Parts: sequence; C-alpha cells; structure tokens
Amino acid sequence: MMLGDHLETIAVHAARDDFAELGVHATPLDLSSTYPLPDVARGGDSYEALAAGSPPPTGGSNVYARLWNPTVARFESALARLESADQAIAFSSGMAALTAAILAHTTARGRRHVIAVRPLYGGTDHLLASGVLGTEVSFCEVEEIASVVRADTGLVIVETPANPTLELVDIARVVRSAGEVPVLVDNTFATPVLQNPLAHGAAMSLHSATKYLGGHGDVVGGVIACSEETAELLRPIRAITGAILHPWAAYLLHRGLPTLPLRISAQQERAARLADWLAARDDIAEVFYPGRSGSPLMGSQLRGGGAMIAIRLRDGYAAASHVAQTTRLFTHAVSLGGVDSLIQHPAALTHRPVAPEARPSADILRLSIGLEHVDDLIADLSGALDSAPRAVHAPAGDRSGA
Ligand SMILES: *Cc1c(COP(=O)(O)O)cnc(C)c1O
Repeated sequence: MMLGDHLETIAVHAARDDFAELGVHATPLDLSSTYPLPDVARGGDSYEALAAGSPPPTGGSNVYARLWNPTVARFESALARLESADQAIAFSSGMAALTAAILAHTTARGRRHVIAVRPLYGGTDHLLASGVLGTEVSFCEVEEIASVVRADTGLVIVETPANPTLELVDIARVVRSAGEVPVLVDNTFATPVLQNPLAHGAAMSLHSATKYLGGHGDVVGGVIACSEETAELLRPIRAITGAILHPWAAYLLHRGLPTLPLRISAQQERAARLADWLAARDDIAEVFYPGRSGSPLMGSQLRGGGAMIAIRLRDGYAAASHVAQTTRLFTHAVSLGGVDSLIQHPAALTHRPVAPEARPSADILRLSIGLEHVDDLIADLSGALDSAPRAVHAPAGDRSGA
C-alpha cells in the first residue's frame, strides 16, 4: 500500500507512483492511434485479451487506441482508487458510459428490462424512455422496485443526489430491493469525495466526468467504477461501440483529480452559505439542498451537502426566467460542477426531453456553485431576484429579502 491513505493524498498521488521510474513529473500523454506489435503471435494474443475486456498482457501490445490507451488507463486507476473500487472504465461522455452499462447488462446478455427511479438526469431519462437501445424501462419509486423486478431485468438505475431537485435515495435499500439485479448509481453530483456507492452494495458508480471530476468546463467524459468482473463486461462494449475516452481528456481529468477534494469542500462551503441565505428570502418558496434536508442519509451515505442547489421561486416561471437571464457571475448555461458558478432552468433545458408528468416545474432553477467569493455570489443573485417580476398572488410589502 502507498504511504498515506487519506482521500486528499490519494487524489494527489494515485496512478503516479511510477513517475520517478519513468523520469517524469507529470502524466505522460500518449496520443497513438495504433501500436507496434512485437510479433504476430503476441499481437494476436494481445488483441484477444483486449477484446475479452482484459488489460494487454505483459510483453504484448496495446494494439489499437479504441481498445486500450495508457493515459486513459492511468486516469482510470486513479479514479478507481478514489472510489475504493477494483477498476474504473472511462468513456467519451457520461452518456456513453451509461449506454455501455445498459447494453452490457441487458441486450448483450439477452435481457431487455431496466428499472429506474426518477428523478434522473434528463439525458438518462430520455435514453431509457426512448428505448433506442432495445430496452424497456419501468420508472418506479424505491418502494416498488422489488415488485417490478422481472426475470429479464438486467439493471436498476438510480441517481443520488438526484437531478435537479437533489433528493437522496437510500442506495443500500435499493440494492436490497433489487436482489440479484445489479444496481448502477449515478454519482456525478456527489463525486467520490462525498459518496462511494460501491460501499453500499451498488455494482457501478457512474460519473459524468464532464462535471466535478473535470471541474474546469473543458472536458467531456464519463467513467464507471466497478469490480473486475463488471469491468470485463464493460470494456468489450466500449471497444466494439468505440466509446473510449480521448487520451487528452484523460490527461486533463487526471490533472484535475489532485484538487478535487479541495474544490468540493470549498464549493460546498459556499453552497451551504448560499442555501441558508436563499432560504431566508420570502421570494424563494423552497430551497433544495441536501445539507438542509435533514435526511438520515446525510453523514451515513452522503458525507456533505455538496455544491448543487435548486430553488423554487414564489413568483413562478416569469421570475425564474428573469433570474436565469439576469445574473452576471452565474453563467446561464447547462452543465455543473466547475470552478465557476452556473444557473439554468431545468424544465426548459436539461429536463426538456422528460415526460411532462415527470418534468420539474417551471418555477425551479438549478444552481451549480463555483469558487467565487460567496458575498459576490449573494450580491449577484440578490440583484437578479430583487428585480424579478412579481406574480399577482405575491403578498404586498417589502420583498427585498435579506
Ligand atoms: C451531465 C450528466 C450526465 C451525462 O453526462 P455527459 O458527460 O453530458 O454525457 C449524466 N448524469 C448526470 C447526473 C449528469 O449531470
């Protein structure tokens, strides 16, 4: 075991232990699309191992960049360490990762049924509801999972904290209800810093690496932490569908991991302050923030409130759209988890493809809190909220808030 097993130390040193031996101090970036083969026999053996979902054999070859890339493998082992998982498999996007997980557990093994608990990321909801992967989905509540499982159920999908209203789902309970069926948890909002789904029995912890893992708004990627067994199911799907992460993206993701714990704690600290400030305003009908939820899962499953907040505006869509368009420090944009703050309207954007009955209401905004000074973020939101149009039902009096 490496010296130092605190999360912060792992984040800085994971998958860098061979640097001295290599004579480098930063992650080597390998952009090769193909690799020399030592000889025909060993080339063939390497190909066979890779196609079966195993790493290239020692003395073999990486063969082809769609099958294996050392820079990607390095990011994967660092992420696996952070999730205390055997393996991690990286994909070209969060949706590519989810697609591979679904295919590997359903159609690739003669099953077609998927169970999913809403709310989910809009893209996940859309992928499942559209059936484009040849699957059939049952959306249900956690309490209903056990009764919805069928002989051909291949996968249960949950997201916690869930998008956009940050509900917490009890992972261990989902795992118990799913019985033999593997459970995938979308861990994007929590990151390995705040939550490790595998420790609660999940088979896979999925991240849209585009969000907190990247953290700087310049990478698109996805990654799944899992057991060796599950990795061997996912890698062949990744290879045949061509969904591997680009090495440059892997380089940037590995570069960003050392600051992940620090970013999460600093962003979370600001988010907690902002959530309290928002809750004290009377033009905010509801603040959705795990740190204020009083959920028994806080601490035991989720180790901090995180840096995502959703708010319901008392003055409806008109006020919500005004605020999203008026803030200056908060960029009006989809995505989340970066060092800069973002604001977006889920019903109009990220959750637009979701069926109307499951779509978030039009008075909700989602905020991703970055690293700006909290007072500046408060001033920005304050200006936008104060100038928002008031609905006719709004009570009279001073609405300027704190
Ligand atoms: C963004 C996101 C995804 C999809 O990831 P991409 O990298 O955009 O493909 C999946 N789940 C959650 C929770 C997300 O926020």
